[in-house]
Amino acid sequence: MDLPRGMRDLGPADLAGIEAVRGAFVRTARLFSFELMDPSPIESLSTLEARSGPAIRDEIYHFRDKGGRDVALRFDFTVGLARHVASERSLRMPAKLGSFGGVFRYDEPQRGRYRYFHQWNVEIFGRPCAEQEAEVIEFAARLFEELGLRVEVRISHRAVVESFVGRACAGLGPEGRARALADSLRMVDKAAKRGREELLAEYRGLPPGLAEGLLELASARGTPDEAAAAAGGEPPGAWAALRELWASLQNRGVANAAVDLGIVRGLDYYSGAVFEVFEAGTGSAALAGGGRYDALTGAFGRGDVGAAGIAGGVERAVLAMGARGAPPPAAGRVSVLYANGQVMASAVRLASQLRARGVPVDIDLAGRPLRRQMEAASGSRRAVIVAPAEEAAGQVVVRDMEARTEARVGAGDLLASPGAYL
Ligand code: AMP
Repeated sequence: MDLPRGMRDLGPADLAGIEAVRGAFVRTARLFSFELMDPSPIESLSTLEARSGPAIRDEIYHFRDKGGRDVALRFDFTVGLARHVASERSLRMPAKLGSFGGVFRYDEPQRGRYRYFHQWNVEIFGRPCAEQEAEVIEFAARLFEELGLRVEVRISHRAVVESFVGRACAGLGPEGRARALADSLRMVDKAAKRGREELLAEYRGLPPGLAEGLLELASARGTPDEAAAAAGGEPPGAWAALRELWASLQNRGVANAAVDLGIVRGLDYYSGAVFEVFEAGTGSAALAGGGRYDALTGAFGRGDVGAAGIAGGVERAVLAMGARGAPPPAAGRVSVLYANGQVMASAVRLASQLRARGVPVDIDLAGRPLRRQMEAASGSRRAVIVAPAEEAAGQVVVRDMEARTEARVGAGDLLASPGAYL
């Protein structure tokens, strides 16, 4: 009866945390005018490969269905949303879409890294402009603020790394330059996790001086001015986009952003700004990541539509929120109790009537003695007790479980305004 490796059941506390993030996400999406949708959980394998090529097979769940089709479980929402937008020619642009739900990845399981987990995601499709990146970053900043998490947003731009590499590769042909660029991005991606000497040895094939320069670039942090100084000067042109994004974030009051040229976010499909969100001062894994990825919509036949977005791991946010994110599922519940079997039917009816008025109610279904019912109700805020003598007088007993006080209340009054007594 063991679960497959990397799978787990989400218990009530896990789900309460996930629901807390979902609630904050839905409220924030409304504030920013994102429309929510749920892209298909199963895609054609070829659709998921459109972004990253066949190498993606190692990282996802894929199988042949009973009709002989090669299909795969979604590993994020970005691909499904982009496919949807590309196929809906009548969709009005710009389109602001978001999703929240479960995704599957064949990752190596560890704390905060699962094979089934939840993501929140917002994307803006349409003619590219820097305000789109700024909007999704502001969205993430507001969402984490609502979740009570102190975060820092680290931003970079592919063009900065590309122009840096381009200058060092001026003597190479187009193929050599492309290879050097891919290696450079890979090296920058590893810079924070690996030692200097190890990286210089691994990338000794790069043109002279480039690897050393990239390590310096990858450690550049701060405002655009500070990062440019740390990166050994500002290449003409490339920084304009980064500065524009920076200016918009300042204008929007997003104070917790900084340039970090070590952020490149893999090789897959990002084409412009890239960003990641971390819990401030913890050094823990990323809470969210995103960027501009105009090539993906192009791969689905809509080269005219650009896209920028950000996605966050829900379980990671819940871990960071700790106990704050997960109120006990039964908090605030009312228990309806019955003194004996003769009044059980009346109590069940009362429970139904209270639920119809929006009161969350628990009731013992097994006819257990009052003492046992009382024990089970200890986590409730109030108990409503139905007993023969009170019932004859049209009354119930309302017990405050914390103060341990009781009062007789007319059953009609209770149903007319439950909020006044519960
Ligand atoms: P990505 O789609 O890889 O950019 O991931 C976006 C966010 O999802 C990351 O910043 C993490 O917060 C979260 N995430 C990615 N992979 C996992 C995983 N295997 N388990 C839990 N959360 C994850």
